[in-house]
Amino acid sequence: MIHTNHRIEYRPDNCIGCQLCFQACFIDVIRWDAEKKQPVFKYVQDCEHCNYCMAVCPKGCITVIPDFKSQSPRQSFDMYK
Ligand code: SF4
Ligand code: SF4
Repeated sequence: MIHTNHRIEYRPDNCIGCQLCFQACFIDVIRWDAEKKQPVFKYVQDCEHCNYCMAVCPKGCITVIPDFKSQSPRQSFDMYK
């Protein structure tokens, strides 16, 4: 998995604890705090910038801020030399 520097802004004030963001994240970025009934953005370095969490949130609590440079595949093109 490529580690990225994407950032996630979470504004808890309007959060209704619906868990949609938690269920939408297909990686392990978002965990659930059962006590506070809020998402925890725990492994942000694994975020793939799919925007699912931002798209499903009915209250606009989440903004994913991409850093596309960090998403570039770090691969070798030695085979083409
Ligand atoms: S943008 Fe996608 S990968 Fe990143 S936290 Fe949201 S759902 Fe998970
Ligand atoms: S989808 Fe939005 S409202 Fe629902 S738990 Fe996540 S941040 Fe809160």
